[in-house]
Amino acid sequence: MNITIIFPAREMEVGRAMIPVMPLAPTLLAALTPPGHEVKLVDMVFGDQVDYDASCDLAALTVRTPLAVKAYEIADRFRARGTPVVLGGPHIFTFPAEAKAHATSVAIGEAEELWPRILEDRAQGALQDFYVSGPYKTESFRGSVYHVPQRPDLARIPMMRRDLLPRKRYLMDSIFTTRGCPNFCRFCPVTPLFGSQIRHRPIDQVVAEVETLRKYYFNVDDSVFGHPQMVERPEENRYYLDLYGELARLKTRRLWSGAGGLSAVNYKDGRRIIELAVESGLCSIAAGLESLSGSGQKQSGAWRKLHFTAPDVFDQRTLKENIRTLQGLGIEIMGFFVIGWDEDTLETYQRTLDFCDETKIIPMILTLAPMPGSPIYEEYLEQGRIITELAWDRYGGESVVFRHPVMTPESMRAENSRVMQEGFTWGRILSRTWHTFRHRPSIGVAMSSFFTQQGMRKTFKYLFGK
Ligand code: SF4
Repeated sequence: MNITIIFPAREMEVGRAMIPVMPLAPTLLAALTPPGHEVKLVDMVFGDQVDYDASCDLAALTVRTPLAVKAYEIADRFRARGTPVVLGGPHIFTFPAEAKAHATSVAIGEAEELWPRILEDRAQGALQDFYVSGPYKTESFRGSVYHVPQRPDLARIPMMRRDLLPRKRYLMDSIFTTRGCPNFCRFCPVTPLFGSQIRHRPIDQVVAEVETLRKYYFNVDDSVFGHPQMVERPEENRYYLDLYGELARLKTRRLWSGAGGLSAVNYKDGRRIIELAVESGLCSIAAGLESLSGSGQKQSGAWRKLHFTAPDVFDQRTLKENIRTLQGLGIEIMGFFVIGWDEDTLETYQRTLDFCDETKIIPMILTLAPMPGSPIYEEYLEQGRIITELAWDRYGGESVVFRHPVMTPESMRAENSRVMQEGFTWGRILSRTWHTFRHRPSIGVAMSSFFTQQGMRKTFKYLFGK
């Protein structure tokens, strides 16, 4: 069969990836395709066009919320030509019935157990309406259902098909090591989607895959240290100690980045894990700090991952110490903050930028976008605070999609725009790059810091300039 796997993009995003990382979902789906099929990958973020006239027996799209409008439009066009379409991804997980109106089949949950079966059914001309992987209720689905109740075994993940995309167009490759998150941040749909238990890929498979990546830099699409489970379950520590130990022993060592919890420096084995990660090439982490107030920590649920003692305690002293410790070990920190918690005001945007300036972390200050599938979306929907007249394509971070008790959507957007453009003046970019270089005197790390920030500067100018 001829199979087309599409990674959709909104018009405004085409050619404007903030950090050009090769996408994981389509390359994984291609890898799960048994031999004998022709697979074509279309990454619309980089300008690939969908060719509706080419021979295609099955089209598949991965859908995040801001892409749903575009994905449905593509699916409708394929189906109008008689081509079956499968839709999957986080948005479809939350709205299977909505997706079914545009798709021949809807895939809910992780792809490993479903995709080979979908291809078999397509070949027989017997596609089911819903394919479900994981412990989810299916009684409400109207139509035929194929359901595998357990989550997939990560020991059977094949090597991604990175060869199907032009590698040169991406600045870096990406890889994943685990799935699942125990943190339950209230604005994030990851825990409902992948479960609260962390599942690991076998270390030898991760290492073998790293050896196929390009030689200078890659991104780990996971939390690479800092889960609370590390404190409660010592075997979690073992996985990371062994993994980074193996990566540190590779002949060709690459720089790499990932997401990380700052409180890991306080764990019994956390410090050793971080040191080994640095030895193996870790140079930058994205850290979800979410809020600089106790009330924001409580409302976001982020206090768990920061390991504060109670939901509404904000321990700024410990946070700053942890930041300094990680920076001292040679790790650059990109701090993710969400503004728009009930007690936030417009002044919170500037206060957060001041904190980033003081600590030399790269500011990623965003206005709350309650993502469908997250607890906060459900809560706000019930309270009538979601601006329901806005379409899904407004959920990309540049629009405000909910009502705040004191700030208007326009004022939040304007203030967010101002601080993000201020946060990426050349002076600030150079000062942070120099700070990173002083702690990690490596030209490669300094260049990656500079070019990452330059990409962010360009993207924020474009997004907020609109
Ligand atoms: S935002 Fe919170 S819940 Fe979502 S993946 Fe990160 S740590 Fe887990």
